[in-house]
Amino acid sequence: MTVSYWMDQSATEPPVEVDVCIIGAGIAGASTAYWLKDAGLKVAVIDKGDVACGASGRNAGFVTCGSVEHFAREAKTRGEQVALDLWQMSQENLRLIETELVGKGLDCDFKRGGTYSLAGTAHELEVLGETATHLQARGVPVTVLSAEQVNRDIQATGFAGGVLYHDDGEVHPGKLVRGILERSGADFYPHHEVRRIEDHPAGPRIHTRLRTFHAGVVVFATNGWSGELNPWLGERIAPTRGQILVTDPVAPFLPAPCYANFVLDYFRQLPDGRLLIGGFRQLAKETEVGTADVLHPEIQANLEAFLKRHFPALAHARVAYRWAGTMGFSQDGMPIIGALPGRSDLYCVAGFTGHGIGWGFKAGQLLADLLLHGKTPPHVSTRRF
Ligand SMILES: Cc1cc2nc3c(=O)[nH]c(=O)nc-3n(C[C@H](O)[C@H](O)[C@H](O)COP(=O)(O)OP(=O)(O)OC[C@H]3O[C@@H](n4cnc5c(N)ncnc54)[C@H](O)[C@@H]3O)c2cc1C
Repeated sequence: MTVSYWMDQSATEPPVEVDVCIIGAGIAGASTAYWLKDAGLKVAVIDKGDVACGASGRNAGFVTCGSVEHFAREAKTRGEQVALDLWQMSQENLRLIETELVGKGLDCDFKRGGTYSLAGTAHELEVLGETATHLQARGVPVTVLSAEQVNRDIQATGFAGGVLYHDDGEVHPGKLVRGILERSGADFYPHHEVRRIEDHPAGPRIHTRLRTFHAGVVVFATNGWSGELNPWLGERIAPTRGQILVTDPVAPFLPAPCYANFVLDYFRQLPDGRLLIGGFRQLAKETEVGTADVLHPEIQANLEAFLKRHFPALAHARVAYRWAGTMGFSQDGMPIIGALPGRSDLYCVAGFTGHGIGWGFKAGQLLADLLLHGKTPPHVSTRRF
């Protein structure tokens, strides 16, 4: 974004002094504010839109363990320990959502009834079987299911089998993030687009059209937009689009959310009976990039074809909603949490690579811990680059 001299010099409100200025009111920014709530700091959360207007209000609401990769493959590429650390981070995220938020009255349609990962081919079923063996050995409740069991459980046709992760959950992500932000007690400034951040001896100055924030510390919780504000983050986080559709309500039939096709495609039935289906970005990997909020006709057509193929009885369900959302894919697929290189006043919590509901609440706690106590686990730290 370019900014003209005229609009840069036209703030109408007096500056705001804060200890921590968090840019971005998605799950990452709201959660960071939440975990700072008892530290006696003055915290502002600012967003160019409203709370959860980015990916946090446009996702599928799966709260799953692990990353976006099957555990067995994650362990092969990153090593067993890192795969396990990522798994434990998401387990802890789930536990914290359940105890700290839902358990204390936050109504966000949270349900912990597990998730299915469905195999489209015999090869995928083999990988899922390896995953289940790894995880069962570590006490994670996972059951391997035959094609007959899967297709009977979810009333579908065409899957080669799958696994059921008993611990996973699902949520209304918009209600979740709004609730986290409200409970943080931070001052919220919606419709404040940050145009630039100026270094100043007294601390960074964050310029928006309406007012300037004078902060001790800035936190970038800006997901796929991070590169618009900071080149270091721009080199490490790529904005990547995802597509979803939602049908009119149909009679309840699906016991739990499902991933398919190596976690690239997914569907769940919402509490009001609607079926949500997303994914298929593999059909247009080169062009489904950037931050534009645009539908992709071919992907949307494939989402509908997926519905008809696997759930012929629902072939006539009307599509009531279609939307796109911007994910922030990090260079190595793991979250990026910590201080920017050489800076003690600029931090980030971003790069969730399509898995931010599964990691974000815990990630906010990790960043808050770093700000307050100076520590972050190495595999998600900015220091790994
Ligand atoms: C289609 C789709 C499906 C998904 N499904 C799932 C799922 O089921 N489970 C799961 O775990 N994850 C899922 N994800 C990923 C998940 O939604 C994201 O990882 C997560 O929401 C990222 O949260 P965030 O707070 O980092 O970013 P966002 O929620 O994108 O928040 C970033 C915020 O920064 C603000 N911002 C950016 N630039 C500026 C600026 N210059 N000034 C002020 N504000 C600014 C934006 O307006 C935005 O509100 C999905 C994502 C998509 C798009």
